[in-house]
Amino acid sequence: MPATVISGKLLSHELRQALAAPVAALAARGVQPGLTVVLLGEDPASVSYVTGKEKASLELGLRGETLRLPASTTEDELLALIARLNADDGVDGILVQLPLPAHIRSDKVILAIDPAKDVDGFHPVSVGQLVLGGKGFVPCTPHGVLKILEKTGVPLVGSEVVVVGRSNIVGKPLALLLMQAPYHCTVTVCHTRTRNLAAHTLAADIVIAAAGKPGTVTASMVKPGAVVVDVGVNRVPDASKASGFALVGDTEYAGIAEKASFVTPVPGGVGPMTITMLLHNTVLAACRKHGIAFPE
Ligand code: NAP
Repeated sequence: MPATVISGKLLSHELRQALAAPVAALAARGVQPGLTVVLLGEDPASVSYVTGKEKASLELGLRGETLRLPASTTEDELLALIARLNADDGVDGILVQLPLPAHIRSDKVILAIDPAKDVDGFHPVSVGQLVLGGKGFVPCTPHGVLKILEKTGVPLVGSEVVVVGRSNIVGKPLALLLMQAPYHCTVTVCHTRTRNLAAHTLAADIVIAAAGKPGTVTASMVKPGAVVVDVGVNRVPDASKASGFALVGDTEYAGIAEKASFVTPVPGGVGPMTITMLLHNTVLAACRKHGIAFPE
């Protein structure tokens, strides 16, 4: 039987509707949550992500602003800007779009963000809270994947999960979250030095592909009935598109959709969820600051 497709667009819509209540509670106190995105340079993928974030913020009634700076901005200038945003009471969330130009140290910039405004969840304080099972900001893409897994209704406790990829922004935090309460999964993390990727994925109830390489997980590598979540976003040449490229994930989607129980498409799967969880974190930051209940 073909897999059920989990639409990140539909699920995002549901989750954004649920955010309307805390946004209204904040508005009743005269507070409009503010998200400031900082973009250096004009990398097309980053520009597209930032535009999507700005649009989604405004649609939800947040004060979304994007500060577009030249790629030549110095590290000191960027750090000074972050210090100003940290001190600005109207800014609840700060997101510096990565990757940054090579002359800027990303770790130094992330460290400069006030952890109370770290809606990307990349500050070491947020990462530490995630490791310790505390209540920090959960990074947006892993958080979106968790929401997708919850939506399947598949029992997660005790399930065998393989995460393909060990980056600081996707694979590693996702593995840490899935092994902890309330998920209690048994997690295997694979990477380029993994000796036999297929041996691991074939044994998994849930496969999460976050490798950034098309075709990393093929249909022959997943067991029948598995849940397959594709985080990958890869541009491949496609002459039939006006842009000259198409977006594909890390999995062999068509074959897997015939074999798995649940799959996510690319685009329209994890991508919209990432933006939604950014909105979630921004509203959460404003609620924490103003002592308003937030539906976790
Ligand atoms: P990354 O930093 O490049 O990390 C990729 C990871 O995958 C690395 O750990 C790498 O292993 C591993 N890997 C690569 N090829 C592999 C293979 N053939 N077999 C096993 N492991 C392999 O990438 P990322 O930032 O985590 O992003 C991963 C993908 O998700 C990208 O396509 C990115 O565009 C996408 N993404 C999507 C969203 C979204 O909102 N939808 C958000 C973030 C990222 P090593 O560590 O050994 O090199």
